[in-house]
Amino acid sequence: RNPELEQLLQAYEWSAKLYHFLLKNTEHGKPAMDYLKSRGFTDRAIDTFQIGYAPARWDTLVQFLDKRSFDLGAMEKGGLLSSKHDGTGYVDRFRDRVIFPLHNRNGKVIAFAGRILGEGQPKYLNSPESRLFTKSRILYNLHQAKSEIRKTRQIVLFEGYGDVISAWEAGVHNGVATMGTALTDSHAAMMRGLADEAIVCYDGDQAGQAAALKSIPILETVGFTVKIAILTEGLDPDEFIQKYGAERFKLQVLDGAVSSVKFKLIYLKKNHILLEEAGKVAYIKDAMEVIAPLPSPTEREIYLKELAAELQVSFDSLKQECNEKRIAMQ
Ligand code: ATP
Ligand code: MN
Ligand code: MN
Ligand code: MN
Repeated sequence: RNPELEQLLQAYEWSAKLYHFLLKNTEHGKPAMDYLKSRGFTDRAIDTFQIGYAPARWDTLVQFLDKRSFDLGAMEKGGLLSSKHDGTGYVDRFRDRVIFPLHNRNGKVIAFAGRILGEGQPKYLNSPESRLFTKSRILYNLHQAKSEIRKTRQIVLFEGYGDVISAWEAGVHNGVATMGTALTDSHAAMMRGLADEAIVCYDGDQAGQAAALKSIPILETVGFTVKIAILTEGLDPDEFIQKYGAERFKLQVLDGAVSSVKFKLIYLKKNHILLEEAGKVAYIKDAMEVIAPLPSPTEREIYLKELAAELQVSFDSLKQECNEKRIAMQ
């Protein structure tokens, strides 16, 4: 038992309730509610994810916590308040932001992410890292998703809060997100305790696809079967669902997720102009780096056959190329 930590947990729990109440029941919360509605968030999602609003004042939380005899210095260290510049007291850390509470896997609120209403910088403001909140170890929504993850032995990994929430609305209840940080080994280990298959469903932009590529070895090292969902038009999952609907997201994006090998080949292909002979040769060279190390001969054959058909070259020559690469690798 650690009284200071328990005080901070209590403060986060009550502050989350306060922000949620202010969003739903007050005039102050109206612009934030309008913003969330304009993005397609439903009342049910707002309740399930305990979304809130921190008003555009300096002392909402200062007053609230002070009245309940919380130690304001400890609250500042815990990331709920900020020190005034002249050191004469405290102000709220989160002002005029939509609040997404972040929970640990036991469902306790341990941090907030505050999103600006509309455009502006920084888009998200997080609680600072603390003994409670370590970004590299927290997965958004794990506490609610873990039973579905265990049941299906599958986990869907997103980049952001909105993606998890929209997917959840679409009926995908085994989704979690890293929070802007890269996926870490400890994230992967935590996930692996619950599931055998991971579907990486990152944003369709260049950054998201590069991050998906990086996530593959991290997930495969802990023994996951990895699939990658591919978003078109640079959309993120949330935007895709708002634009094309839940069914298309599930059928086209999630069910259409490709194997990690396939994804690497698609990713590499973008660097080459396949209409030119030199481009074909260069792509084949890159592709062999992916295919030749595969331990299963049938798996190698499957990808080599696809490649042969796609590039209109013979399977035999690709196979020979692959074998030479394997010998060179030894
Ligand atoms: P939105 O849909 O609200 O615009 P997003 O989730 O699509 O947000 P991205 O820019 O794709 O935002 O970033 C993915 C995730 O990275 C966010 O959900 C958030 O967790 C994190 N993130 C993004 N920008 C910041 C920031 N400035 N500070 C901290 N975390 C951030
Ligand atoms: Mn992104
Ligand atoms: Mn995004
Ligand atoms: Mn988004």
